[in-house]
Amino acid sequence: MKRIAIIGSGTGLFLARLLHNHGFDVTVYEAADRLGGHINTLKFPDGRIVEGGAEFLNPTYTCFFKLIEILGLKLNKFTATMEFTDLQNNTFLFTPCINDIFSKIAAYDKNKSFIENLENDINELAYLKKLYSIIFKFKQQEDKLTRNPIFLKDWITQIDEQDFAEKFIYPVLSSFYGVTSEQAKTKMTHYAMTYLITGSDCYEVRGGLSQYIDALKTHLDNINCTIKLSTKVQKITKVSDNKFLVKTEKGEDEYDNVAICVSAEAAKEILDENSCETSGLINIFSNVLYYDTVLSFNDNNSEEYCKKVVVHIKQTNEGAKTTATKSWNSNISKQWVTEATIPENNLAIVRYRHPMMNDKYYLAQEIMKAHNLKNNGLYFGSIMAGMNDSHESGIRASLNIARLLFKKYNFKTPKILKSFDSLDTGSEKMCCCF
Ligand SMILES: Cc1cc2nc3c(=O)[nH]c(=O)nc-3n(C[C@H](O)[C@H](O)[C@H](O)COP(=O)(O)OP(=O)(O)OC[C@H]3O[C@@H](n4cnc5c(N)ncnc54)[C@H](O)[C@@H]3O)c2cc1C
Repeated sequence: MKRIAIIGSGTGLFLARLLHNHGFDVTVYEAADRLGGHINTLKFPDGRIVEGGAEFLNPTYTCFFKLIEILGLKLNKFTATMEFTDLQNNTFLFTPCINDIFSKIAAYDKNKSFIENLENDINELAYLKKLYSIIFKFKQQEDKLTRNPIFLKDWITQIDEQDFAEKFIYPVLSSFYGVTSEQAKTKMTHYAMTYLITGSDCYEVRGGLSQYIDALKTHLDNINCTIKLSTKVQKITKVSDNKFLVKTEKGEDEYDNVAICVSAEAAKEILDENSCETSGLINIFSNVLYYDTVLSFNDNNSEEYCKKVVVHIKQTNEGAKTTATKSWNSNISKQWVTEATIPENNLAIVRYRHPMMNDKYYLAQEIMKAHNLKNNGLYFGSIMAGMNDSHESGIRASLNIARLLFKKYNFKTPKILKSFDSLDTGSEKMCCCF
């Protein structure tokens, strides 16, 4: 048996499932007192549940859906509706999927006159028409822009759409990502535009995403995998060609391999640059920027949103907000707020760190993936070694590490890994919302 330490129990927990007892003796280290990282279904005392972290899964999440099937869990399909509001009075409908405009027209309130609504809707339609012409241009160049990422603002200049972008595209993206318009301009075009082109078909895990983490934990407990909660890794040191020392405040232990499944900012803290030959990597990690994300959860009985929905609201200081709405079993609203605008009487507050998806982030991901190919005992997983910041990305990173490890030792590939073989060859898109 080869010993491996997996740092981080988000998508890292799936890596543990792929490896433990298949030639590997796995120890999972998790700094928090719960498993799952950004997967965090909240359960309130009155029985209501709501996703406290990641929530939206799109049809390109083929590997994650396979895992859900293997674990015996079920997916619900739902339609995400989205709306962009300019808080300086003008409301613009924002629908990533053109079909939604027809349902809106069909849903006219019969008591109001058509003319009353016409002015607003013509405005909306004009925006949509412009938006779709930009999306059309993007679709024509998508492959090129994915291979050679460029800043959104440079692409917008190339296609000569600055005015519309200043008025609409940048504010939409800034409120959506919780960044400023200036920061939105320095997002990579393919990433920023993917949000705008994603359709409204979404999936959720029935009963909440944490069900999948719970199911993995139950399996790992049954096969005696060691999971150390509330155990933050402080340093990883290479002690010989084939051995790594993992230090925590509670002690230290030696492993043949280490898989780091945490954010770039956490990874740079734990790598010992002198022994891990990683000083270059630490610089790359340092260039990846993160910003705080605060989520507040409230009872929401406002008329603005129908009951029995979870409404995601992201608010910037620039007077713009986006909402994404889905059916759920409670009327809880989930708001992305700043520290300064946390509402009162919250059911819960959750804090995370989000990466800035810019050129530095993509560069770091490419370097992580290239590093993994060395197959030298130190691996990078999680979304940091993926293609974007989606959950599917982290799941695929775990699959890639597992394949490398089985190859390294010439171990027999387990059935579970084989069942993903044909699924992660295509590129997955970013989730529709976050
Ligand atoms: C609020 C929010 C909403 C999101 N919504 C979506 C969505 O709808 N759809 C989607 O696809 N993606 C979404 N994402 C993106 C999300 O980041 C990914 O889906 C994914 O869950 C991240 O998994 P991960 O394994 O990369 O990292 P994480 O889930 O962050 O796991 C990393 C783990 O490492 C632990 N850790 C860190 N440092 C150490 C250390 N030194 N020692 C031990 N443990 C450590 C952390 O505590 C954490 O548990 C969302 C993210 C956030 C924050």
